[in-house]
Order: sequence, then structure tokens, then C-alpha cells
Amino acid sequence: MADGSVQPEFPWPAWMRRARLVPEKPPAPRKTPEAPANADSELSNWCREKATELALPELSAKVCVVWNPRMRTTAGRAWWPTGKIELNPKLRDFSTDEVWQTLKHELAHLIAYQRSGRRKIQPHGIEWQKACADLGIAGESVRHSLPLKGRRMERKLAYACPVCRSVVRRVRPPKRAIACYQCCREHNGGRFHERFELIKVPGDSA
Ligand SMILES: [Zn+2]
Ligand SMILES: [Zn+2]
Repeated sequence: MADGSVQPEFPWPAWMRRARLVPEKPPAPRKTPEAPANADSELSNWCREKATELALPELSAKVCVVWNPRMRTTAGRAWWPTGKIELNPKLRDFSTDEVWQTLKHELAHLIAYQRSGRRKIQPHGIEWQKACADLGIAGESVRHSLPLKGRRMERKLAYACPVCRSVVRRVRPPKRAIACYQCCREHNGGRFHERFELIKVPGDSA
């Protein structure tokens, strides 16, 4: 107020309050039914907006993203009909890309279920593939494992240098003999020498 006066607060008489003529305190803002402590509000909101964009208000109302530190090698999981998406916190050690890719993969499951209603569908069937395309990840892999063990980094073959014992990992067996880069550089002017030829490590699948 311009003159600096303060509006005195009018104390409602008790009888008015008892007679419910005075509005009671406004109810505390209702929390979403399931908003666990480990929920990620940013990712949850993103999913909500996506569901709204795709005209799925029911999904939008319930979708919730949480980080589950107890997950081991599973990257993500989607629960239906609760609409909960669980993500493995280890995903953040890879890249934000991996987080988003996994989030979209899991949201696609929920979208597919929501659209299908009571109809039974295959987890990674045509409905899920369509939902992936709607989220911009057409052709997404059907795997749920962490990238370390799954897509992109499936370097199951290990080769060791017989001299320095350093290990090189490959996705596919090399077409030609390969030698240790470091040893060749250090002892042979950078040229291939069979003394440093890498030897396959048996039974390694890390
Ligand atoms: Zn899946
Ligand atoms: Zn070497």
C-alpha cells in the first residue's frame, strides 16, 4: 500500500469457524499417489509431456521415472499397469545418450500397453516398435542390458600381447594377424613384428 499501512488480520471468531462459515486452511497440494524419494522429476515430466503429445492422458497422469540402485545389469524396466519406469543409475556413467535411449525404450513399452488396452501384445512387437518410432528411436534394440554388456560395446573377444601383456578387445575376430601397437612402436620402429603378435585369451567374455 502506498501509505505503508498494514491491513490488520481479522481473527475469525471461533463460532464462525465451528459453523464452517470460514473456509478451512486450503488443503495441502496433493502429492502424486506414488512419488518415491528416488523419483526423477525432470525425467518424469518429460515422459508426461510426451504422453500428452501422443494423446495419452491416462499414461501422462501416472508415468513416473525412478532410479533403482539395486539394478545390476538391467538398464531399464517398465511396469504396467503402474506406469513406473526404473532406470539403472549406472547408466549415468556411460552417457546422457544412454539414459535417454533407455528412457525412451521403456516409455515405448508403456505407450504400447496404454494404446493396446486389454489386448495382449508382444513386449517388443509391432506396437512397441511403432511407439519407438513415435519417440524418435525407430529400430531400437530389444535388449534391456547395460551398454557395457549389450549394444554398442559388445567386445567379447580379448587378445593379449605376449610381451607386455596388455589386452585389446575386439567385437569381431581380426581378419589378419594383429600385433601389439605399443611394443611394435617401442621395439620395432612401429612396424609389425610377429614377436608382438596378439594371442587370443581363451574363454574371456567380459
Ligand atoms: Zn524392452
Ligand atoms: Zn605389447
